Amino acid sequence: MSKQPLIVQNNEDKKVCNNCTDCCCENIPGAWSPYQLTLLEISKLIERKEAIFWHVYEKWYILRPVNFATENYDSIFTKDYPRGKCCFLLLKGCRLSFENRPLECQGVIPTIGNSCKSSPGTTLEDIGKMWNLYKIRIRKLAKIFDDDHYAL
Ligand code: SF4
Ligand code: SF4
Repeated sequence: MSKQPLIVQNNEDKKVCNNCTDCCCENIPGAWSPYQLTLLEISKLIERKEAIFWHVYEKWYILRPVNFATENYDSIFTKDYPRGKCCFLLLKGCRLSFENRPLECQGVIPTIGNSCKSSPGTTLEDIGKMWNLYKIRIRKLAKIFDDDHYAL
């Protein structure tokens, strides 16, 4: 695993999340930062159809879990907004350990009343900017998967 400059302490609060009526994991999967996964680890996630690069607002390519209910792409890239349940969500919650969850997921602070906020440095924009520094890696993955949808 690459060096992750931002470590988020485990802030899970199952009591708050179990009573949430607008669960983030059921609506939009969070984004991994490029520091969390090696090229090989990303390749495996993509092979298992558990992750995809999302071309967010035509600005950044970020890696996020797929939404199993509606997403089944041939490409490793998509522009689609991932509205729906994250593929890692089980009845009891996320099946990934806190340490292995996407940085954006780790950064959300569970708060009563559907008013959860992200901790500093963990928003989609923050993570999109991180991925902009890792375009070479994205190009490598496009080559590995013989996918020419990557435009940069
Ligand atoms: S982190 Fe916030 S939005 Fe997500 S399930 Fe928990 S309380 Fe709900
Ligand atoms: S990876 Fe886990 S914490 Fe993140 S959206 Fe999916 S189920 Fe939720």
